[in-house]
Amino acid sequence: MIDNLRQIFSFLDNAYNAQSIVSVLEEAFPLNAIYIYDTTTASLRDFSKSWMFIKSKELNDIFSSFDKDKYVVSGKKSYYALYNNQKIIGMLEFSDHLHNKLLEFLELSGFCISLKIQNIILSERMQKNIDFHNSMKNIAKIIETQYETNYIIPIIGEMIDKFVSDHLVYIFINNELVWPSACKDEKIFELIKCLNNNSEYILTPDKKIGLFPMISENKLLGCIVTKSTDNILSEKEIEYLEQLSNQAATTLNRANVYAEILKHATLDALTSFYNRRQLEERLKQEVSSAKRQKRNLCAIMTDIDFFKNVNDTYGHAAGDLVLKTVSHVIKTQLRDYDVAGRYGGEEFALLLPFTNIEEAEMVAERLRKAVETKKIDISKLHPDKKDISVTISLGAAQYTADDTEETLIQKADKALYSAKENGRNKVTIYENNL
Ligand code: GH3
Ligand code: MG
Ligand code: MG
Repeated sequence: MIDNLRQIFSFLDNAYNAQSIVSVLEEAFPLNAIYIYDTTTASLRDFSKSWMFIKSKELNDIFSSFDKDKYVVSGKKSYYALYNNQKIIGMLEFSDHLHNKLLEFLELSGFCISLKIQNIILSERMQKNIDFHNSMKNIAKIIETQYETNYIIPIIGEMIDKFVSDHLVYIFINNELVWPSACKDEKIFELIKCLNNNSEYILTPDKKIGLFPMISENKLLGCIVTKSTDNILSEKEIEYLEQLSNQAATTLNRANVYAEILKHATLDALTSFYNRRQLEERLKQEVSSAKRQKRNLCAIMTDIDFFKNVNDTYGHAAGDLVLKTVSHVIKTQLRDYDVAGRYGGEEFALLLPFTNIEEAEMVAERLRKAVETKKIDISKLHPDKKDISVTISLGAAQYTADDTEETLIQKADKALYSAKENGRNKVTIYENNL
C-alpha cells in the first residue's frame, strides 16, 4: 500500500496535463472521468475531455449530495469527492464500486490528486494568458508594419480563433462579413444592426454569442463576433476580446487612413485615373521594362473634341460629368495591366504593355467608337436636356529602342495633333513625316 502510494505520488508529480493525470489514475482505479465544478457557469465540466459541459442532472445531483459523504454510489458506478480547503471542487467517477482498500487509498491520496488537478488548471490558465499576451504583441506588430486591410483581417481572425478555440469567430466590417467566408446565423446579422459608435460589447442572454464592436476615433468600423453552441464566454475571455477588438479597430482605422492618403496621392479625384505625377512614375516603369525585356509597348494620347463647347453650353458641372463618363468608358475598355492617366485638363495618356501598333490602333478605334456612342445623361443638371454625346481624337505610337519616356509621349501627342487637324473623332498612328 505504502509502495503503491509512493508510486502514485511520483507519477502524479510528473503529470503535466489532464490526459497524463487520467493515465496515472487509471493504473490504480477503475476511473471513468474527472469532473470539476466550474464556478463561472455553475456546472460540472469534464476535466479529462477538454472541459466539455456536463448537462446530466443525475451527475449534478450526485455532486450536490457530497456534503454528507465523500463517497457516493449510484447504480453500478461510484463517485469520490475532490476537496480543496473543505470546499468540494469536483469528483472522480468510477465504473465500479470501490472496495475498502481502494477507498482507504483514496483517503490518503485524494488531497494530492486534487492539488495536482488544480495545478494543471492553473497552468492551463496561465498558458492562455501567455497566448493572449503573445497575440496582443503580434497585433501590435501588425499595427506598426501593415497597412493593407486585406492582409490584416485574416491575421486578426486567425489570432482570435486560436485564442477562443472552442468558439466560431467572425469579423464584420460595415455590417458585412469579411472573415471567414460564410456565416449562416441570422441572429448574428440582426444583432450587428444594433451596434453604434457608442456601443459596448453585447452578449446574448445565454452568453453563447458575443459581439465586440471595433470603434476607433468615434467611428464604428465593424465588429468581432464569437459564437459557441456549447461553451459560454468567461469573464476573462470577454475582457480579452474587448481589448483585442480595440486593438483591431486601431489597426483597421490606420489602414483605412493610409489607403485614403494613398488614393489621394496617386489618383485623380474626378476621373480616378492616375494623376500626372503617378502617370510619369508608371511611364518610367513601363518604358524601362519594355527596354529591358525587349517587349512591345504602345502609348495613346487622347483628347475630347470641342470640350470647351460643352463647358460653355452646359456649364462646368456638366463638363465634369462628361470627363468622368468618358474616363469611365475608356477604363472599361482597357485590360487590368494597362495604365490610364490624366495628362492634363481633358487629355488622357494610356500605356498598353505587350501591345504592338496594329493592336494599339484597334484599341484606339474601339475607344473612339465607345465614346462616340455613349449617351451622357445630364438631365440632373439640365432638366430640359436629357442626353449629350462627345467624341475623342486619339494618337498612338509604338515604343522603339531609341525612345525615351518623353519621346514616346511626344510621338503619340504629335499623332493626336494630326487627328485633330484632320477633322477630329479620329485615330492617327505616329509616322516620321507627321
Ligand atoms: P479640341 O477639339 O481642339 O480639343 O477643342 P477643345 O475645346 O476640347 O480644346 P481646348 O483645349 O481649347 O479646351 C479644353 C477645355 O477643357 C478648356 C478647359 O476649361 C476645360 N477643362 C479642363 N479641365 C477641366 C475640368 O476638370 N473640368 C471641366 N469642366 N473642364 C475642364
Ligand atoms: Mg479638347
Ligand atoms: Mg485639350
